[in-house]
This record gives sequence, structure tokens and C-alpha cells, in this order.
Amino acid sequence: MSAGSDTLVIAIDGPAGTGKSTVSRGLANELGARYLDTGAMYRLVTLAVLRAGVDVGDPAAVAAVATPITVGDDPDDVRAYLADEDVSAEIRGDAVTKAVSAVSAVPEVRERLVELQRQLANRPGAVVVEGRDIGTVVLPDADLKIFLTASAEIRAQRRNDQNISGGLGDDYEGVLADVRRRDHLDSNRATSPLRAAEDAVVVDTGEMTQAEVIAHLRGLAQRCKEAVR
Ligand code: C5P
Repeated sequence: MSAGSDTLVIAIDGPAGTGKSTVSRGLANELGARYLDTGAMYRLVTLAVLRAGVDVGDPAAVAAVATPITVGDDPDDVRAYLADEDVSAEIRGDAVTKAVSAVSAVPEVRERLVELQRQLANRPGAVVVEGRDIGTVVLPDADLKIFLTASAEIRAQRRNDQNISGGLGDDYEGVLADVRRRDHLDSNRATSPLRAAEDAVVVDTGEMTQAEVIAHLRGLAQRCKEAVR
């Protein structure tokens, strides 16, 4: 348990397309907590690697790239910077999304980011930390661990709907293939594979709206807060 009654550490893990980001930000907002998007950190490092012209398949070269990254912790204003440049939109683009699994499999990259994530999470106050290995590796002593799931088909459908409304086109089969590819890479890598911590509460978001998921997690956080006191 984290020390102090005003400190509450909530870890939210799970694969892409479970509504994890929206739910994590929504929960942080309702709790008045800080929000830490660890996926954004891996995306920032990936962008730095791509800009350096380094082959993402060369772990030693990837590990050697300088990565002056900064992420905000306000759930209402999520921004990401490389040096002083706001790259919040660019890190969500196709090039970074395609390369991020390879970069995040490099052990030196993970060590560096895990260290930074622990420093940021362990500041006073409540925090919601979102990622893939938060409950298992980064913050194994988190007060509350959530693992969000949904079938690959439902996650691909959601991502494709987002793409359509964002003007990125309609390609359900392509999106499904990408969801499966990333699931496979993230679940089978040697360092910190994606899996639920033994003491995580697993929530299947397949048949729930995001508002329902947030309300459910809020109830869990409330009970946890009372238990921590
Ligand atoms: O959450 P998001 O989709 O932005 O994460 C991008 C990628 O970063 C994931 O596919 C995964 O490869 C990597 N990641 C990770 N560990 C985390 C967060 C993200 O390996 N804690």
C-alpha cells in the first residue's frame, strides 16, 4: 500500500482498443487525480528513434538514441513533448504506431522508462497510471490494479469507428490484423509481456459503455480509498 491517506495509486493495464485511455482519463478526472499515459512515453521514444533514422530492428542502435521526453499529467490536457516540441498529434500517427512495439521490446528502453514512470507516479496525491505492465512490473504495490479486456474483434471495431470519424478511412480487416499483430508482439516479448497481475481486477469492457466502465472503476477506487485509510 502506498503511504498516507491522500495517496492513491491506481494501475490500469490492458491491450489497445479496450477504451483504456478514455476510461483512465475519465477516472482520473472524477477522482481529481493526476494521469500518467505510459504508452505516450513509448510513442515519444519511438518518434525520437524514427527521427534519428535508426533501424527499429536494431536494439543496440535504438537504445543509443537520446530521448528528451516530457509528458503532462493533467487528464484534461494530455500533451507530449520531445525536447520542447509539442508532438502530441505526431506520436498517434501511423509511422509511430507501426514501430512502437519493436521499440518498446528493447530492454534498455523499458528500464529507462520504468524508472521515470516510478518517479512520476510516486509523487504525493492520487494518480491513475495507464499502460501494459503497470500492475505487474512498474508499480507492483499499487493500491488498485485494473486489467481491461475485450475481444480482438470488438477492439478492432472500436478502433475502425474512431478512424472513420477521424477521417482516416474504413478498413476493419486491416485494423483487426494490426490489433492481432500488436497483441501478439506485446504478449510474447521477453521483457514485461502484457498480462494481468494476479491481484488485478479484470474488467471485460466488450458489452459496457465507457461511462459504465468509469462508474464501475470509480466504485472500486472508492472502496479501495476507504480500505487504505
Ligand atoms: O497505449 P498505447 O497504444 O499508446 O501504447 C503504445 C505501445 O507502447 C503499445 O502497443 C506497447 O507496445 C507499448 N507500451 C508498453 N508498455 C506500456 C505502455 C505501452 O510496452 N506500459
